[in-house]
Amino acid sequence: MSPDGRTRTPAHVLVLGGTTEGRALAAALDGRPGLRVTSSLAGRVSQPRLPVGEVRIGGFGGPDGLADWLRAEAVDAVVDATHPFAAGMSHNAALAAAATGVPLLVLRRPGFAPVAGDRWHLAPSLTAAAALLPGLGRRVFLSSGRQGIAAFAHLDGLHFLARSVDRPEPPLPLSLEVLLDRGPFTLDGERELLREHRIDVVVTKDSGGAATAPKLTAARELGLPVVVVERPPVPAGLPVSPDVAGAVRWLEQRARVRA
Ligand code: NAP
Repeated sequence: MSPDGRTRTPAHVLVLGGTTEGRALAAALDGRPGLRVTSSLAGRVSQPRLPVGEVRIGGFGGPDGLADWLRAEAVDAVVDATHPFAAGMSHNAALAAAATGVPLLVLRRPGFAPVAGDRWHLAPSLTAAAALLPGLGRRVFLSSGRQGIAAFAHLDGLHFLARSVDRPEPPLPLSLEVLLDRGPFTLDGERELLREHRIDVVVTKDSGGAATAPKLTAARELGLPVVVVERPPVPAGLPVSPDVAGAVRWLEQRARVRA
């Protein structure tokens, strides 16, 4: 109830999700008085891990579609908690926020940090990562996601072990073994995987996060080179929080979100 005695509409927060952080934020906000939280998923995986609370699935139809949705649903604040490589959605969110004046925070976990003993080769894109591979090894562990495998399809001389949540679609490399699995992964499991498949080079996106970091430790222990695909930049001028607690604080300041 507002001070004048009228019932206030709940503040509405849109969480663009599809990540561990998106689910953790929805859980942290769940049940707060006077707050409606909608989590949005792209609908890419067949059986997504669902956040608690209200969920909508599927694209908005570009930045204009998202702006229309923000207006129609009277959204007070947006948190872009998409994956660090979901650059299209982040760009659209920035445009829609600018068009509507709805405050937008980017919740982005820190990237992986190299430590002594790592043999990293940074690549600005999946295409650049593919170009590096023939000089680094012949049996490749690809953990860059189902949608990224196509960038390696032309490398006929190499063997690929690709891990993804759902089965990848063509174009695919000639010599390919697919492992359907989703994190979190353990160090023991990753070490065993690299040994069993006689992997001699690893490719990863710089996703960051504890769920997928053990493969980097395993590669270091085995002395394997790792091609690390660098992140696309966060759209300019936006506030960024590296963690869920920071995102909650930002919302408390901006969107009538009460503890
Ligand atoms: P993207 O290339 O940046 O997005 C392409 C389009 O998918 C967007 O323009 C939007 O369609 C729709 N979309 C993306 N995220 C959405 C969301 N959370 N809610 C509603 N629509 C969304 O994204 P992507 O790389 O395909 O990733 C899709 C989703 O998977 C993201 O939510 C991301 O967090 C998650 N994910 C991505 C990766 C990765 O490596 N890219 C890894 C793990 C999880 P419209 O233009 O029609 O709105």
